[in-house]
Amino acid sequence: MSTTKYIFFTGGVVSSVGKGVTAGAVGRILKERGFKVAVQKLDPYINVDPGTMSPYQHGEVFVLDDGAETDLDLGHYERFIDVRLNRVCNVTTGQVYAEVISKERRGDYLGGTIQVIPHITNEIKRRIASVSKTTGAEIVLVEVGGTVGDIESLPFLESLRQIRSDLGRENTLYAHVTWLPYIGATDELKTKPTQHSVQELRSIGISPDMIVARSDYPIDDSLRDKIALFCDVEKQAVFPMVTTPILYEVPLLLEQAGAGDYILRRLGLEARQKPDWSGWRKLVDEVRRPKPALKIALVGKYVELHDAYMSVREALKHAAVHQGVEVEIEWIHSSELEKGRGWELIQQSHGIIVPGGFGSRGIEGKIQAARYAREKKVPYLGLCLGMQLMVVEFTRAVLKNEEANSTEFDHATPVPVIDLMPEQRDIADMGATMRLGLYPCELQPGTKAAAAYGVPRVEERHRHRFEFNNTYRQTLEEYGMVFSGLSPDRRLVEIAEIRDHPFMVGTQFHPEFLSRPNQPHPLFNAFIAAAIQNAGLDITSPDLVPASSAVES
Ligand code: GLN
Repeated sequence: MSTTKYIFFTGGVVSSVGKGVTAGAVGRILKERGFKVAVQKLDPYINVDPGTMSPYQHGEVFVLDDGAETDLDLGHYERFIDVRLNRVCNVTTGQVYAEVISKERRGDYLGGTIQVIPHITNEIKRRIASVSKTTGAEIVLVEVGGTVGDIESLPFLESLRQIRSDLGRENTLYAHVTWLPYIGATDELKTKPTQHSVQELRSIGISPDMIVARSDYPIDDSLRDKIALFCDVEKQAVFPMVTTPILYEVPLLLEQAGAGDYILRRLGLEARQKPDWSGWRKLVDEVRRPKPALKIALVGKYVELHDAYMSVREALKHAAVHQGVEVEIEWIHSSELEKGRGWELIQQSHGIIVPGGFGSRGIEGKIQAARYAREKKVPYLGLCLGMQLMVVEFTRAVLKNEEANSTEFDHATPVPVIDLMPEQRDIADMGATMRLGLYPCELQPGTKAAAAYGVPRVEERHRHRFEFNNTYRQTLEEYGMVFSGLSPDRRLVEIAEIRDHPFMVGTQFHPEFLSRPNQPHPLFNAFIAAAIQNAGLDITSPDLVPASSAVES
């Protein structure tokens, strides 16, 4: 296939209709037909990346292999399609303007007046084109953040409009994802907002080729007809997407509605293989089947917003479904624990997870949760900050010095067991300056981490400034802490665990970013297995075959 094919996803009516999930699901559908697929998100905000944004504003920051700090939709894409994306797959308005302005300062525009069209749109198109160049993808899916009608997204939409003129109809497809509101009084779903949104898109010069109509209620045939008529698309190009509590059911629903065959036909492509959904369907059936509950306490700082821990939640679910249990997450605010509240939830939980985080609010509550896990022998998984605080807790206990701390929270601590990495000391900028992305980790034989992974060396994604202070390595080892994962030069502690404990493991990296629905992460698997044992559940794991990986990505 010589020319790259593009599918553009825009959103209508309201935000949060599941555009990211739809793009990921369509990606899976195409991969199942033997195509190499990549997905790019265009984010209209002016921040250069979400790395400096509060999780309350933005949800989780998803980290890629190359260290790009990206939108959480990239997590959906990677999980649905089972691909590894790169930094060009998330573009923000901030990046585009920064690039154009720096070129202007260098004099690259030779005295020209710099304008949105063509300078900004050309830079956007250059970035869209670089996806297939850097990933080798044959079909590139591009999702535009926000909703049609937003001022901020106009340059992106104009660029998408131009791409059709540049590449032709047979190489481009516009998918519009909208919402059908339900009016209770008359018991009906309304298509008017969708019609308006399509009109708005048209006024920009884009006519959608397909409409994904999301709704909380079933969408009947006459409604499909109506959308087709008023929005000027073929009826078979209207894909109803009724809300499902099972995220991973979306590809199956879209496939059932004929999205795969329609898209291929529109792009003039022939499937290279027949999609085999058997493994995926089995996974979805298993998610739906009522299973014994396993309670996991997630002790965090942004727990009101579950999206702030999206990948952790997904990784827990992946491991749980593969072991035949239903994970019930107890979202616990660590600062509540400090006030003596929420402990009954901790006591009822079969495992405790302390995820990543920044800043001092609620730190002591997380340390108390780690202490509880260690003393009561409750399975514990610490992710980045959760690992650092597990080390702080242990140091406080064994050195009998409650002043032990990370210098992130106490600059003057006499026992800085977690400290700034030397290469971080002179950094003044906050954006994209952490230790980011994939780094190798060697597992020490005979440890729980090594047993979980079953291989001697792994590569995991990082996002941190602070690290374990080697001054304390020997002492803590003598007291029963095991440094089970080290950087190949043995200088950096990547995984720590407690020897006399069923499962207390902390990782300096973020294993949650590499978990897949059909391939749960080994450490999450081991943690869930330990929690099942702690719960005294006697269950046999379902025999879930991995969903077919059609193309090596
Ligand atoms: N704040 C800690 C650090 O910068 C932990 C970061 C994290 O949890 N991602 O090292």
